[in-house]
Amino acid sequence: MRPWLFIILMSGCLGLTGCLERIVEPVDVFGNVQQGEPYSSASKMIDDWYAVEAIDEQTFAINEPKSSQYNTSYLIVGETRAIMFDAGSGERIPGSRSMREIAEQYTDKPITLILSHFHYDHIHDAATFDGVTLIDRPEIRTSVKSGVFTISPWESLDMEWRSLKVASIIPDGEVIDLGNRTLNIFNLPGHTTESVILLDKSRNQAFTGDFVYRHLGGIIAFAPGSDLVTYKANSTRLLQLTNSDTLFLGAHGIPQFAQDWLILLDNELDKIVRGDAEYRYAAHYLAPGLPWRVRQSGELYIYTTPLVDPSLFWSKWMLLALVIVSLLSLYLLQRLVYLARLPEK
Ligand SMILES: [Zn+2]
Repeated sequence: MRPWLFIILMSGCLGLTGCLERIVEPVDVFGNVQQGEPYSSASKMIDDWYAVEAIDEQTFAINEPKSSQYNTSYLIVGETRAIMFDAGSGERIPGSRSMREIAEQYTDKPITLILSHFHYDHIHDAATFDGVTLIDRPEIRTSVKSGVFTISPWESLDMEWRSLKVASIIPDGEVIDLGNRTLNIFNLPGHTTESVILLDKSRNQAFTGDFVYRHLGGIIAFAPGSDLVTYKANSTRLLQLTNSDTLFLGAHGIPQFAQDWLILLDNELDKIVRGDAEYRYAAHYLAPGLPWRVRQSGELYIYTTPLVDPSLFWSKWMLLALVIVSLLSLYLLQRLVYLARLPEK
């Protein structure tokens, strides 16, 4: 084997290994939260799987403390109907109740399902509801066939295709009337394109899904559909829609936080977009095996795709590059084996 070839191969392997700095592993993901236990005394276990906190008499945080990502869904009740925001992580133990069955324990009003986004850990019991209300985006509208919308594995990061009956499609900014209580829905792409948040202006509550939550392994901007420039634009939009007294309710970890956390996220996204951010490369427990780029500021971690932004990373060009690199690696390996077998002279 030629020495230069050996050196290139070795430095490539060592470089990749060096990139795989461990930052977020399941054991330290949970921080102050004890996995399996409610996040505070206000959140009470109601059976073997769910813990529920009444944020007020018409707003319920339904937490899954034993799920791997400590998910929280929300039941938001008015005088004539209710909204279920997300439909469970899909990790509940066999025989446990669905998210709909839990919601029906807290309201007798008709329940409309809205998904914060389509990732697998927010949609599991979606089909048990009468239908789903979707945000009006061109790609969603064109995907609805005969009143059925199908979430693809590419969107859910799961293996399954999930077909959901569509109750309605509503535009960005729409006011949802629940009877003596209104919610505004806003489409805030960044984590994913279809991400929505709900705002109850009179109670000053913001239900933010995965757009922003506190702790639990950091903000994910490495998914297909993640977009850093859009993330920054929409974090600023969310800042303008809220104020320092807003109660933010996220979908993971200790669900409640204040606007200062969003301000920190907005500042860090600003640095990323302006090219002023410094990164490390680190493993992430949700997607091990690749050195993700991570921007850290205090307790905030923002994970994004290695080397290039998500739009390029998940494009067909990157797929092509991966195929070429894999083929080249296979060729080099085959040459190595061949050279190793040559008898010494
Ligand atoms: Zn997500």
